[in-house]
Amino acid sequence: MPAGSVPVCRRALVNVGAGISIMPQKLLKSAHYIELGNYHYWPVLVPRGIRLYTYEQIPSFLKDNPYITDGYRAYLPSKLCLKSLFILSNETVNIWSHLLGFFLFFSLGIYDMTTVLPAASASRDDYVIYSICLFCFQVCMLCSVGYHLFCCHRSEKANRRWMALDYAGIAIGILGCYVPAVFYAFYCNEYWRQVYLIMVLAMILAVFFAQIHPYYLTKQWYSLRALIFCCVSVYGFIPTIHWIWQNGGMNTPIVQAFVPRVFVMYLMGAVAIFLYVTKIPERYFPGQLNYLGSSHQCWHILVVLMFYWWHQTGVYIMQYRHKQPCLELMST
Ligand SMILES: [Zn+2]
Repeated sequence: MPAGSVPVCRRALVNVGAGISIMPQKLLKSAHYIELGNYHYWPVLVPRGIRLYTYEQIPSFLKDNPYITDGYRAYLPSKLCLKSLFILSNETVNIWSHLLGFFLFFSLGIYDMTTVLPAASASRDDYVIYSICLFCFQVCMLCSVGYHLFCCHRSEKANRRWMALDYAGIAIGILGCYVPAVFYAFYCNEYWRQVYLIMVLAMILAVFFAQIHPYYLTKQWYSLRALIFCCVSVYGFIPTIHWIWQNGGMNTPIVQAFVPRVFVMYLMGAVAIFLYVTKIPERYFPGQLNYLGSSHQCWHILVVLMFYWWHQTGVYIMQYRHKQPCLELMST
């Protein structure tokens, strides 16, 4: 750089820096970044004040996946985080997949309450169980939307709060799966129904308390977080095996009707967690799946599919239970 250009460069930095005081000192040092930060270079789709960054340019608390190399939003105030809902970034599919998921479960809730449950002559308990289940799914979707929308906030503290809420949302979503499953599986056995419901509630509460640990949201605990959610999900094997035994083993029609549904649910869950942890497929195509096709997007879509599948299974088992009242109670 010619010696004479230094003052000009500094003046430019001061001028531009005044307009974007949110920029950290690290970036202000680089005239190259500041010039790229001028919104004039981003005339299409990106509102004033928002730009996209590469992996190297983002703050360390956003550095989670080195295989996603570009398309990051960062350093934004809340208002611009919200506005970024309508731009194409590497979070667009993550945000919209669960925003549409929220509308799906909201609509399903209305449809259930107005059509499915009245047609099945549902009891008050059925309404309560369906409301809890769909409410949990909707909360899970909204927490996730909130995190992916506001993770680019300029404050690390805000990012961590939204991340904690996202994890809390996953736990609530899992609770939404367990409640109808335990309720209808142990429909005719109040004792075990209460035992399993209390155990599930205790487990979800334990996950909430684990989040208070200062290391919970750190990168070092990334795999441990996934492991905790695996354990919470795999715990479902215990009531499932108990239910199979209670209903007379694998050869009975009710078991044959529902076990494949449970198996499909666990298969989708296993694939989702596998992709989440291993960061496949972007690991093999670094930089090529920044906007579409990354593991987190697959995870999001699989979560919506799992919830929908489980809701449909719930409808099926409720209708079965209404047709087959608790006549012969098997031994516990
Ligand atoms: Zn997510």
